[in-house]
Parts: sequence; C-alpha cells; structure tokens
Amino acid sequence: MTVEDLQETVCPNPECEYYHRAEGKAIIKRGKYKTGHQRYYCKYCKKFFMDTIGTAVYRKHLSGEEIRLIYRLFLEKNGIRSIERITGHHRDTISRLIRETERNPKMEEYLVKQIGLTASECEKLWALLENRKRKSRK
Ligand SMILES: [Zn+2]
Repeated sequence: MTVEDLQETVCPNPECEYYHRAEGKAIIKRGKYKTGHQRYYCKYCKKFFMDTIGTAVYRKHLSGEEIRLIYRLFLEKNGIRSIERITGHHRDTISRLIRETERNPKMEEYLVKQIGLTASECEKLWALLENRKRKSRK
C-alpha cells in the first residue's frame, strides 16, 4: 500500500468528523467489492466505502443525502429547475451532477450501495439520462 494510492480518497460519510477531509484522515484499503473495485475503510467512523473517483459525485460538495434526493427527484421526472426549487441547490450544480452521471459499473455500484437505488431504479435512471442526452443533441 502506497501513500499515493490513498491521496485522493476521502471519507464519504457526512456524519464523519473527516468527511471529505484529506488532512489527518485515517483511511485504509480493506478488500474488494464484487465488481472488483477497491474497498476502503475509515478508522474514524468505522465505515466501509468505495471511492468516488471516476463517478459523477467525485469532488462534488454534496452529502450522500443530498445526492440521493437529487437522483430521486430526477427519477420522478422532475426538471432541473424544480429540483433546484426543492433542494435549494443551484441548477448548475444539479445539471453538472446529472450530466456527468455515466453508465458504468462503478457508478451503478455507488447508486446501489451508497444511494440505495434498486436495480430497476438504476435502469430507469439510465433511460432518463439517455433521453436527456438525445434531446440536448437536437
Ligand atoms: Zn469516516
């Protein structure tokens, strides 16, 4: 295990004292997920997690709860403006999150494990994102 490997990895647990904090964090590698992704462990909050590098939520200053709410509202076919109104987040933040959400195993694992979406909700989300992309190309 090298220091470089863990440099970009911060605790994603909003209740943790070291949430998104690089300084003084105590994160170690602990096994792998089914998908082959590295599993991490925060010694402070004693929680396992997967890093978000390469997913839409990487380096977004949104808590897991806020991200969950945004995806849920999007799944219920709310537009960016109505999500803005409900969550109080700027529409640029929301549309960037949605735009950067790409279908890949890591993103899917994140949505299921950290956000609590079901497999069928993920399917619905990919379909909505695909629709959105098609519309914006017109
Ligand atoms: Zn933690």
